[in-house]
Amino acid sequence: VVIGGCIGQRDGEDLIKKLSHVDVVFGTFNLASLPRLIEQALLTGDHEVEVLSEATDFPTDLPTERESKWSAWLPISIGCNNFCSYCIVPYVRGREKSRPMEDIVADAESLKADGVKEITLLGQNVNSYGRDLYGEPRFADLLRSIAATGVERIRFATSHPKDLNDDVIKAFGELDNLMPALHLPVQSGSNSILKAMHRRYTREHYLDTIKKLREVRPDIALSTDIIVGFPGETEEDFQQTYLVKEVGYTQAFTFIYSKREGTPAARIEDDTPKEVIQERFERLVNLVQDRALEVNQAEVGKVVSVLVEGASKRDETVLMGR
Ligand code: SF4
Repeated sequence: VVIGGCIGQRDGEDLIKKLSHVDVVFGTFNLASLPRLIEQALLTGDHEVEVLSEATDFPTDLPTERESKWSAWLPISIGCNNFCSYCIVPYVRGREKSRPMEDIVADAESLKADGVKEITLLGQNVNSYGRDLYGEPRFADLLRSIAATGVERIRFATSHPKDLNDDVIKAFGELDNLMPALHLPVQSGSNSILKAMHRRYTREHYLDTIKKLREVRPDIALSTDIIVGFPGETEEDFQQTYLVKEVGYTQAFTFIYSKREGTPAARIEDDTPKEVIQERFERLVNLVQDRALEVNQAEVGKVVSVLVEGASKRDETVLMGR
């Protein structure tokens, strides 16, 4: 049994004390050591724990086996500087570190030469890409350089609404191979909850960004993440998240707030009953689904190009693609 990633990074040796059946624990920065750790554990029959305090390699330095011949993930940065009050990532993955633009473009070129049609650029907050290397965010420049390789489809994840600047919005209007799709986590529609979450944007700023995006790319499909039941969220705050109706997401990932020890939000007291949060959550899921159905039904009858990824997981007789 192996535990790796954020929790391995945070708890290290303590995990073995709590869970004696765990064989190997590794952190966020030493995925490359995993084969060696497993081998040692098998040889010695002992627990192996390795947690490095900082990244030495990017995940791209590891050998790769792709699930699909046509699509590839391409990491552009790791870590995060944002410290949203509920999130453990900056503590366990460290500060944002960008890869040099030439390296990413070279990777994109070789992926394209290998027959990859769709590249998804990956980072905790792609929009601030390059700030640590070039003194200012250069994500729009990176998008233009990747687009210039001629790869058919470009996507990216994840965006932070406070860093999605006008230059990136402009790129959506300019680049045909940048797919008209954006995942923009809103988390809450209430300004006071956004403040408590330390998200550093307002509801108005978020909606304004969506408006600008739709001006340059009317067909853009939007998806989001939402947390229900953040400590202190009132019914009025919750109803502000009805902005999902206004935005019209094609998909929304909704979560009930869950406490992460070691984060500032974990110290906020809240006595909202669980049933109240559950009821709000269900109300939101219904709102999101009803609206997504309307948005998706508007696509019926249109002819669009789809990269088929294979049979649908739910129904083998149906093909799935984006
Ligand atoms: Fe960074 Fe995202 Fe976590 Fe906020 S939620 S601290 S942006 S990783």
